[in-house]
Amino acid sequence: MVFRMSRAVPHHAPSVEFNASIGGRAVTAMAEAVVDLDAIAHNTRVLAAPAGPAGMMAVVKAGGFGHGAAEVARTALRHGATWLGVTSVDEALALRAEGLSAPLLLWLYPPTETFEAVLSAGIDVSVGAVAALEVLADAADRTGTIANVHLKVDTGMSRGGAPLEEWAQLFAWARKFESAGLLRVRGLWSHLANAENPESPALLAQIREFEAARQTATAAGLAPPILHLANSAAGLQVPQARYDLLRAGIGLYGIEPVPGKSYGLRPAMTVRAQILLTKRVPAGTGVSYGPDFFTDRETTLALVPLGFADGVPRQTGGRASLSVHGVRCPVAGRVSMDQVVLDVGDLPVRAGDWAVMLGPGDLGEPTAAEWAEWAGTNPHEILTGIGARVRRRYESRDTP
Ligand SMILES: *Cc1c(COP(=O)(O)O)cnc(C)c1O
Repeated sequence: MVFRMSRAVPHHAPSVEFNASIGGRAVTAMAEAVVDLDAIAHNTRVLAAPAGPAGMMAVVKAGGFGHGAAEVARTALRHGATWLGVTSVDEALALRAEGLSAPLLLWLYPPTETFEAVLSAGIDVSVGAVAALEVLADAADRTGTIANVHLKVDTGMSRGGAPLEEWAQLFAWARKFESAGLLRVRGLWSHLANAENPESPALLAQIREFEAARQTATAAGLAPPILHLANSAAGLQVPQARYDLLRAGIGLYGIEPVPGKSYGLRPAMTVRAQILLTKRVPAGTGVSYGPDFFTDRETTLALVPLGFADGVPRQTGGRASLSVHGVRCPVAGRVSMDQVVLDVGDLPVRAGDWAVMLGPGDLGEPTAAEWAEWAGTNPHEILTGIGARVRRRYESRDTP
């Protein structure tokens, strides 16, 4: 085999922010996810515009869909978001520990949760079962607080929330604890299974069910001030699903939530890594495990330190490409845990050059949506799959 001499990775760091210190030792990450906070700000403004009177909830679960929950939350709140939403108790408490004091809702917790820390931190809790109401009332009593709850009803998705036959009982208990001064019903809410198709009978049926839940709540003596049903897609294109508060997740990160439609959202994340090594190889060279890939000509191979543990889906082998100097270079052979090999042809590529896995697409690089297509999944899974050892770095022109 003929190997071309590769230039060593330069010792100087490519950028100051790229370096950090772990236990006093300077470290340089090989791969980074650059988060464009100006894009988050822009997307917040786009999604807050159609939102109802209570505004827009920035859904920052799963580490802000992989972008960093606290950083996204701070930016969104500065540009029009009024609420924060997360899944778990740990995520909610972590945001409070970061100094974020905005209204905050969480919606999943184990049956053993006692809610004392949650109530002390002023976090709202979603409730879809009487048992949790009782635990919350108890915790409010013990901590000398009032539990702010959002009653969740299942309107047809058969996931979270109380089923229709339990609504009356749930609302009656909520009313009872509210009268006792232990609990305040701040919200009534549900989630949509498919807001992408505004004419879908199932979507309209869910909205009708939500109206029925509202009537049942009123009949039980409840008057929740915040009704919320819409996610990004519904908020943008289903006016009758908007109600008081829009819960925006994927749109906030710049992924267009309605296939085939553009609302001018801007993808916020760019994932890139420095090429570690290049080598010139002849035609017929096997690459990576197996191998099940052989070069079809003399070419240059480039080693990129991003693998399936970093969020490059293993099943994209044979379809995926990364961008180097604005040129798409196919992934050669199987995706390894920590690395992929690119077939860069005759491109003048050297160690230290950047390979872009995904980004907004402006410079020809693949987007999260394209990766989703290659992997047979949705962009949400691509973004949340970007691994922990890919260093997050934040860029912004107009935010401090
Ligand atoms: C994740 C999530 C959202 C955000 O939905 P998008 O479609 O990403 O905008 C809203 N509500 C709930 C309950 C969620 O779990």
